[in-house]
Amino acid sequence: MQDKPVALVTGANQGIGLQIAKDLAPHGFTVLVGSRSLERGEAAAKEVGPDARALQLDVTDQASIAAAAELIRKEFGHLDVLVNNAAISNTSKLPGMSIVEYAKLTRPSNVSLDEVRAVWETNVFGVLAVYQAMLPLLREAPTARIVNVSSGVGSLTMNSDPAYAHRSVFGPVYPASKTALNAITLAMAIELESTGIKVNAASPGFTKTNLNNYAGTETVEEGAREAVRLALLGPDGPTGTFSHAKLGPLPW
Ligand code: NAP
Repeated sequence: MQDKPVALVTGANQGIGLQIAKDLAPHGFTVLVGSRSLERGEAAAKEVGPDARALQLDVTDQASIAAAAELIRKEFGHLDVLVNNAAISNTSKLPGMSIVEYAKLTRPSNVSLDEVRAVWETNVFGVLAVYQAMLPLLREAPTARIVNVSSGVGSLTMNSDPAYAHRSVFGPVYPASKTALNAITLAMAIELESTGIKVNAASPGFTKTNLNNYAGTETVEEGAREAVRLALLGPDGPTGTFSHAKLGPLPW
């Protein structure tokens, strides 16, 4: 057992998750690089540094989640930071298809329910399943923090405004999965408000990653910034918020 703080980032083998892992390491954490492929997790952990370690974790696989929690319990006995970062944007967008074209094929009236279920399985139920497995370990840490990596495209308030630029792509698959994640974030924060555990949602902004075929405009360093800030919140920091590094608080 070690006393050093331990951080787990899900889906940390690439993209924003990998950058969050890299940015947490210098703050004295042992960083667990969650990855559904152990091999890719190990390669990423090498990039993060000597205090990083790969952890096989598929957020849609209960056995994988339980094994990851058991390993953390045995080797560390506590978890100080949980960043629920893993997500997918779709399972059926054809190569070369634009987000706008995909949005037209995934309206409430014509979307495949299998597509909705697959994306929500990772982005919503996966987060809840990891939360349930890791909460006993988070309760063992003195000041645990949970950060859910969400997206501005899930904001009901912003999408209700006809002037909102991304409104035309608001639909039941990815955007609504982030709306549901926001709701679950608030529910977690309410559940834990009498404890010292803070739960917040971060919006990275449109970031150049595999998720959007590297079409994003922000760097992964910029995309990781808000999640890292929320992971490092002091005792006076907020809980139950949704925010972006440059825009500040976002409406749910
Ligand atoms: P990314 O590069 O595609 O990374 C996503 C990560 O999630 C990958 O490591 C992926 O693993 C992992 N993942 C997917 N399904 C998983 C599962 N079932 N179990 C465990 N890991 C799984 O995308 P990203 O842009 O960095 O996304 C990170 C977060 O930022 C997501 O929550 C995303 O919704 C959010 N976000 C991104 C943007 C953006 O513009 N990029 C904007 C707003 C919000 P594999 O490598 O095995 O596929």
